[in-house]
Amino acid sequence: MSDCVYGIDIGGTKVLGVAVDAASEVVAETRTASNVAAGGVEAAIALVLGDLTRQCGPAAAVGVGIAGLVDGEGSMRFGPNLPDVLALPVRQLMEAATGVPVCVDNDANCAGYGELKMGALRGARNALLVTLGTGIGGAIIVHGDIYRGANGFAAEIGHFTVRQEGPVCACGEVGHWEAIACGNALGRMGSEAISVGQGGAITAANSSEVTGQDVAAAAAAGDPFAIAVIAAFADNVALGLAGLANILDPEVIVIAGGLVEMGPLLFDPVNLAFTRHLEGLAHRPHIPVRPAILGERAGAIGAALQASQLRAS
Ligand SMILES: [Zn+2]
Repeated sequence: MSDCVYGIDIGGTKVLGVAVDAASEVVAETRTASNVAAGGVEAAIALVLGDLTRQCGPAAAVGVGIAGLVDGEGSMRFGPNLPDVLALPVRQLMEAATGVPVCVDNDANCAGYGELKMGALRGARNALLVTLGTGIGGAIIVHGDIYRGANGFAAEIGHFTVRQEGPVCACGEVGHWEAIACGNALGRMGSEAISVGQGGAITAANSSEVTGQDVAAAAAAGDPFAIAVIAAFADNVALGLAGLANILDPEVIVIAGGLVEMGPLLFDPVNLAFTRHLEGLAHRPHIPVRPAILGERAGAIGAALQASQLRAS
């Protein structure tokens, strides 16, 4: 048995695993697509687990973050961006596969935990973490701890209506924030701009569909059309952030997920639009919207840190 704990973050498009040692240092990392050929997400987990074990030996405990509703038994009930995964007893399966204690949590809660322990939320008492990736996830920090709700399902912040005439969300509802403000939405907005002759230098680089990364790449190269798409997208992001800030009164908002790589290209227009939408701006302390420090590994590291609590107990 090694001193390492593993953290595995299961998202809509990829599964990312890290091994963390007793000093909380990441000593190994691996990833694969979520839909590994025929085997789906279970095959992807097995691949990541096998790779980490080859690199570091068997783990002392394993933490798993998964994009969806995770109950108190560590079962994944439902996730709009993992439609083939329903009522999957993740903790039970993983404990049988590894023989060590396993904890399972929502992926954004894991990212929030990671940032709280060793990232951009360290020392925060009341805060909000938002993951902008395939979908939108959230972690609400109340009194220095993760707020979980009655069933562990709290902070599904992508799924409230901000635009009644908006597009259909991955969960099936119309006009949810996620449908206009996640990474997939940025790609769709890029496609729409192209279809009306306003696409500028935006092109689909690696697939038939334009992705958020494609829009970001064109904007980073200075294309004014792509920059305009990002400004509209940033306003969509800010609309939800301001609504949540009005409800929660956080001291800081931290953004995690794939879109963080965009840096100031995203954060400058989001911060600008956020202040425009916030209630009583001139009469309250500034609420910064900042990137996560642990980057796209926040969820996997947070899952591993939760698992290290199992080892300690
Ligand atoms: Zn939804």
